[in-house]
Amino acid sequence: MWARPFKLLALSLGGVIALVASIAIGRAVQFESRQVSVADTDSIPVPETAAQRLARAIEFRTITKREPTALDSAAYRGLYRYLETAYPVVHDSLDVTRVNDLSRLYTWRGADPSTAPIVLMAHVDVVPVEPGTRGDWTHPPFEGVVADSAVWGRGALDDKASAIGLFEALSLLVEGEGRPERTVHVALGHDEEVGGPRGARAVADRIMEQGQAPAIVVDEGGAITKTRRA
Ligand SMILES: [Zn+2]
Repeated sequence: MWARPFKLLALSLGGVIALVASIAIGRAVQFESRQVSVADTDSIPVPETAAQRLARAIEFRTITKREPTALDSAAYRGLYRYLETAYPVVHDSLDVTRVNDLSRLYTWRGADPSTAPIVLMAHVDVVPVEPGTRGDWTHPPFEGVVADSAVWGRGALDDKASAIGLFEALSLLVEGEGRPERTVHVALGHDEEVGGPRGARAVADRIMEQGQAPAIVVDEGGAITKTRRA
């Protein structure tokens, strides 16, 4: 049999757990989804060549490192130069800010400076290929192979697809819609895979220095796919 102090402790713990559980259940019952309903949009004519541009971006070995001095900065610079040549209209219309040398903040100034900006993010660093797993790759990790209706390589999903997707969208918008009402920031970080201390964090500071907190920040998420590859 339990001694009295233990019994009291067990009873009071039980009471706390019951209280927490009832609050949690009560809140769960009252919870309403904040998912906004949005109207369907027309499909967007993504150019066939977009896959090739993603494949080309994969060739730059922007492999993440904990130690900033260990980064292959030439690979990052090469990638940014490639973006300049692949998306000239974007670079004509947006301001480019270099952040801690290897991250970039692209800013498309909106027509109405009183509205809060939006921030669209991606990262261009990739994790290294695990030692001893090279033979497991269907196609080499840094060759940017387009085959079997897919783009293959390190960063194809995480996260150069986001970076290239953003630039494809910007290209279409710059040429089609023209200047937006609100400012659009596109941030490309160079060290997300090690927590983003010199990339995203510094980019966020640069955005906040401009005086307005963003209305929304959109970063990478899980992949949305129709089929699943084994
Ligand atoms: Zn990622």
